[in-house]
Amino acid sequence: MIVAGIDIGSRAAKVVVMKDGAILSSTITDTGPESIKTAYAAIGMALDGTGLTLEDIEYTVATGYGRVLVPFANENISEISCHARGITWYFPSVRTILDMGGQDCKAINCDGNGVVTNFVMNDKCAGGTGRFLELIADVLGVRLEEIGEMSLTAKSAIPFNTVCAVFAKSEAITYLRKGMAKSDILAGLHDAIATRSVNLLNRISIMKDFTITGGIAKNKGMVRRLAEKVGLEPLLCDDPQLVGAIGAALFARERLQGKSIQALKAQYGYADGTGEYYITIDMQKCDGCGRCVEACPAQVFAIGREAGDKVAVKDGARKKLALLCPGFNVCSKRNLVNCHSVCQKSAIEHSW
Ligand code: SF4
Ligand code: SF4
Repeated sequence: MIVAGIDIGSRAAKVVVMKDGAILSSTITDTGPESIKTAYAAIGMALDGTGLTLEDIEYTVATGYGRVLVPFANENISEISCHARGITWYFPSVRTILDMGGQDCKAINCDGNGVVTNFVMNDKCAGGTGRFLELIADVLGVRLEEIGEMSLTAKSAIPFNTVCAVFAKSEAITYLRKGMAKSDILAGLHDAIATRSVNLLNRISIMKDFTITGGIAKNKGMVRRLAEKVGLEPLLCDDPQLVGAIGAALFARERLQGKSIQALKAQYGYADGTGEYYITIDMQKCDGCGRCVEACPAQVFAIGREAGDKVAVKDGARKKLALLCPGFNVCSKRNLVNCHSVCQKSAIEHSW
């Protein structure tokens, strides 16, 4: 069974080809200005030397921000679901993922089957992303691959007041002109990004085991600081940048096997001493019509980016679902309409 996962990120395109559940080949290349060309180039590189052609691949799942522009993909699935699925292939014990990508950063909770149980993302600015680190490396005249190691040689980290890409860049230039050591500047910036990432993680539950995925997980300076601030040693897989593509390939394999319905559900909520409070959205069924957003008196839903333009439970509602939503049965008695009654796709489930 030959399948492929392709992750078209904002900075890099990643492909994993799997044969019978094992990785046959993989590639990482720059994302070009045209996603379609990038997709063909990346799969071509991954197939090079395998003796296979595109026609030999039985099912392809695309993920990442350019996932809808992969012409040969049979299906596309959000990168959040793919990272959760991909990492549990390596480490089934992982419950918290920090995915540090080219232009955004996500904190994800998942269960042992790689099903997402909660997530938040920061995609509003470039601060703390791969793009940001590229900018800083450029300003300091240091190769991107070297900045992490260099930050670890600092005598003292220079405190940065911001991780806004524009302000941090000009702060870095000022320190450089004052003759401050590049290692100290880098240590300060790494520290600021790690603090910002931990703030994102604190918006979900930080649970053992913890992992970091995405290109920045290859930066030893960042990993060290995150481990210290989170208080957990992250489990790191062979190539953290490939995790999304691996998850996509695993979904492709499960598709061929007729499985994976559960894995394509996004679950939000929590369990505590008083019970389990979960809302589950079936991403296969939801078409993003928005009726549930209108109907819910507690304003629990928003049309989000978790899977294209499908519905998600709002960030702020996830940690207080028991407070906001009385559960479907109680809500039905109180209200003429509710999310279940308006959803024509039967995409919403409550576990109360
Ligand atoms: S009503 Fe159903 S199909 Fe429409 S956005 Fe909500 S969950 Fe999706
Ligand atoms: S059951 Fe009622 S309160 Fe709960 S999410 Fe649905 S519409 Fe909102």
